[in-house]
Amino acid sequence: MPDPILPVSIPSVSPVPAAPPILQVSGLHKWFGPLHVLQGIDFSVAAGERVAIIGGSGSGKSTFLRCLNFMEMPTAGRIALDGTPLGRAVGKAAPGKPDEVRYPESELCRVRERVGMVFQQFNLFPHMTVLENAMEGLVTVKRMKKAEARERALRELDKVGLGGKTDVYPGRLSGGQQQRVAIARALAMEPEILLFDEPTSSLDPELVGEVLRVIRQLAEEGRTMLLVTHELGFAYHFATKVIFLADGVFHEVGTPDEVLKHPRQERTRAFLERFT
Ligand code: ADP
Ligand code: MG
Repeated sequence: MPDPILPVSIPSVSPVPAAPPILQVSGLHKWFGPLHVLQGIDFSVAAGERVAIIGGSGSGKSTFLRCLNFMEMPTAGRIALDGTPLGRAVGKAAPGKPDEVRYPESELCRVRERVGMVFQQFNLFPHMTVLENAMEGLVTVKRMKKAEARERALRELDKVGLGGKTDVYPGRLSGGQQQRVAIARALAMEPEILLFDEPTSSLDPELVGEVLRVIRQLAEEGRTMLLVTHELGFAYHFATKVIFLADGVFHEVGTPDEVLKHPRQERTRAFLERFT
């Protein structure tokens, strides 16, 4: 079988020691009307783990990430933070379906503060400068004083190499720069887990590297991250664990070497061959 791994210039990051899970998911289901997108997913992520999620278009990768920080409400299943299950089961949503769970807003806020997200389309506010974008969550969600928020936002913008662009509007930046602002904005909130949903998919090829370099730098710092990506070469070096999502379930889970180089499932092999 041809080697599915694309050449990559980013060296491996070191493996991390085992730690207790921060976030745990059991029996996660998501229906959109009749469409059963997530069909019973069990998953946990521990401090320092880096999980790459791969899978075909429409397989539910974004939905899974969005359920983890409740941007999308799971239809069923439990999510636990530091070992404590969130929400309260209130019986079956429909006959034959699993228990529905209700979540108080206070718990959702707690999760959202701890789980940051970076989107494929950056989702910056066009009418705000780079600095204002990076400060926004600190001021509105964390209710931080402006001076303090500004200082922290500047620190994160510096870190992603955009300390010189603070007064510019997103429309004047390249896609790679915009995505780095989005990463700085997420980092400023000091999340414990960072979710990246195809952060380089809408970038011109020559801009992919600058964003992946920032993500690699975060990996070196030992941050806990989930990354949905089609950059298999990067995933191979970045991840401590790789998940192939298909038919609403985790079809194959393992080390990068196991899943990307020596997949056991025919379905995984067929998916990877599309990248060669
Ligand atoms: P992926 O990120 O793997 O491409 P998504 O999670 O975006 O997949 O979508 C999985 C499936 O769920 C797709 O069929 C998509 O059309 C559907 N879907 C996603 N979001 C919604 C929504 N808000 N309402 C209805 N269907 C949705
Ligand atoms: Mg998606």
